[in-house]
Amino acid sequence: MKPPTDCDTDPTALSVTQARERIQAMISASPLKGIERVAIRDALDRVLASEIISPINVPGHDNSAMDGYAVRGDDLPTEDHTTLELIGEAFAGSTFLGTVGPGQCVRIMTGAVIPQGADTVIMQEQVSRNDGSIQISHGHRCGQNVRYAGEDLAQGQVVLSPGRRLTPADLGMLASLGVPEVSVHRRPRVAFFSTGDELRSLGEILEEGQIYDSNRYTLHGMLTRLGVEVINMGVIKDRREDVREAFLHAAEMADVVITSGGVSVGEADFVKETLEELGQVGFWKIAMRPGRPLAFGEINGARFFGLPGNPVSVMATFYLFVREALQRLSGQTPTPPLLLKLPVTDRLRKRIGRTDFQRGVLGRDANGNLQVTSTGGQGSGILRSMSSADCFIILPETSSGAEPGDLVDVQPFAGMI
Ligand code: AMP
Ligand code: MG
Repeated sequence: MKPPTDCDTDPTALSVTQARERIQAMISASPLKGIERVAIRDALDRVLASEIISPINVPGHDNSAMDGYAVRGDDLPTEDHTTLELIGEAFAGSTFLGTVGPGQCVRIMTGAVIPQGADTVIMQEQVSRNDGSIQISHGHRCGQNVRYAGEDLAQGQVVLSPGRRLTPADLGMLASLGVPEVSVHRRPRVAFFSTGDELRSLGEILEEGQIYDSNRYTLHGMLTRLGVEVINMGVIKDRREDVREAFLHAAEMADVVITSGGVSVGEADFVKETLEELGQVGFWKIAMRPGRPLAFGEINGARFFGLPGNPVSVMATFYLFVREALQRLSGQTPTPPLLLKLPVTDRLRKRIGRTDFQRGVLGRDANGNLQVTSTGGQGSGILRSMSSADCFIILPETSSGAEPGDLVDVQPFAGMI
């Protein structure tokens, strides 16, 4: 039997782009307040709140890129070879204080300041050394093997801009500038819970019709990767009073509240009516698969996302809508996802009128060219499809599927999950 699809085309549904634009408009109207000063060691993955301008040149002086000999470019032979008198040594951190005159050279180590008079370094392997002198042949270029003052970072230059999430390279760069601490945005506090009478927590025995609550674990993982503070509020039963109480409690504690399940219009779906009573919330059917219904709005000053219940829908709607919204609330300037166009190896089935985010695995064909393969069953309850995937295969609303060899849009998970 063919499994039923979880999304029929619906003329009242919003497109993915429309839904994203609405969320962005509401978020950018009021980003979170609060800035902290942190030591750069604690600043990894935090979002920079102010501009970093280089207080110094890095490197501070012209210096050698090689172990070798510092010479004057004017002394380089244009043919045959020449002999230069060796007058001293320069080490990293211990500068040669004299001047290199015509016909002279200085032994120099990597990172040592280029002595006055010299402007070129000859690698030690390209020199024959005698007592008190060296011999060099022709073929060298004036200025070679020199790293110039400020060539990495120039004094007064903007090094990092607000909104950047700091990487390991950034921490090193800040250290190279002598900057010990930075201003970062406060992390958003995000409370999340699952709704559903059928849900059991780990350690409990499953009775007929019951399932373990997996959404709280995927949400925990996705939120932790984003660098927000997570508040796990457990499972809430499908009872009007319980849902109401949980919403109010969560909105009091957190900047953002995320729920899964109960946003449809079934008999036991109290999320919708509770939100209507407590806050301003939009309920949208989105023309996408997986993950059609989504609620977004505000309760008592907290932002609210009501995600669908199906495990793959939770992840897809999180990555498509919640992630970018949380990045903005964190003060981060989101970067657009990397999209590739790759040939697909399988036949992909799809209905016109909605955007599909099918799960795929990147691979290579016999010639080493990138291609994408479907993970197989695409039901919104098949969480294994997310676990084994490393990319979304995005099929637009107008598409009716793909044949083997067709080019499709692919969004790698790398950097996203
Ligand atoms: P709902 O949107 O509440 O009707 O849920 C849709 C489907 O997702 C149902 O099959 C639920 O049992 C399932 N589901 C809802 N919440 C969870 C959860 N936290 N973990 C795993 N499955 C869930
Ligand atoms: Mg439910």
